Amino acid sequence: MQRIYILLCLMVLLAGTGCDPKEQPDASGTGKYRVVTTIGMITDVVKNVGGDRVEVIGLMGPGVDPHLYKASAGDVQKLDSAHLIFYNGLHLESKMGDLLNVGKYRDKTFAVTDAADRSLLLTPPEFEGQYDPHLWFDVTLWMQAVGKVRDVLSEFDSDNTLMYWSNAERYLAKLAELHTYIKAQAERVPPQQRVLVTAHDAFNYFGKAYGFEVRGLQGISTATEAGIADVQALATFITERQIPAIFVESSVSTRSLEAVKAAVKSKGFEVEIGGELFSDAMGNEGTPEGTYIGMVRHNIDTIVKALVGESTTTSPSTTEY
Ligand SMILES: [Zn+2]
Repeated sequence: MQRIYILLCLMVLLAGTGCDPKEQPDASGTGKYRVVTTIGMITDVVKNVGGDRVEVIGLMGPGVDPHLYKASAGDVQKLDSAHLIFYNGLHLESKMGDLLNVGKYRDKTFAVTDAADRSLLLTPPEFEGQYDPHLWFDVTLWMQAVGKVRDVLSEFDSDNTLMYWSNAERYLAKLAELHTYIKAQAERVPPQQRVLVTAHDAFNYFGKAYGFEVRGLQGISTATEAGIADVQALATFITERQIPAIFVESSVSTRSLEAVKAAVKSKGFEVEIGGELFSDAMGNEGTPEGTYIGMVRHNIDTIVKALVGESTTTSPSTTEY
């Protein structure tokens, strides 16, 4: 489809009238072109790579669950006026997928996970033959998403290709440092204690990349509620393995994990809520967790503290939820 579009543009160009997709980059009067994004982690990538050239409008703020999110009338207006749209893809934004994939936005919409090496993606059996969409928790895979954003911006606004490449290089260097940091922190947890229990299965890439066994109560998507049998099975697992802490997520209700904690107690064992992790949404803007790097650092610090038995030390950033 894109090829046809380019071909059409070439034909129009030859006819001498021009066919530039950035015809009206300054429609907002800011001298920037408008990019609409879905989850916060993508918003952050586009801000870092696009720099001063882009006005980034993120649809999903802190605490918002992308699996359940439906576009509002206001969102549709934003999508209408966007020059480019980035979303995660791989069915993460399952209620918005059709709107972005097959509707009128298709030609200006890009999935950041398109560039990710398929051989490195996880295909959990319970997710109906689909890829697990939570790539951002393997920082090296998310670096491939950064490359996708850089390439799309460079193609759209080719006059500034050098700037996008240099911004991306700078950001990728920070992400490489982040990856090294997580690995070093993870190694502080003894191997037998590297078990991460959360509300839903967002952390499989994290587990694979950094050596944790991962159990989620709800599965890959939050669209299906956990049942009593799921709670009991997880409680048995926690009790048998003597796991000291489980983790709530900022974008998923804490109720289900409280039920697990109670079920564990009824089996004669105590498990702590080790803190809040940011899974499918970042923290508030202006806080460290309101950036991708900050949220990932917060997660690993929270996990390590709780699992190596330092969870009793009061740290406001990890115990307020
Ligand atoms: Zn999720």
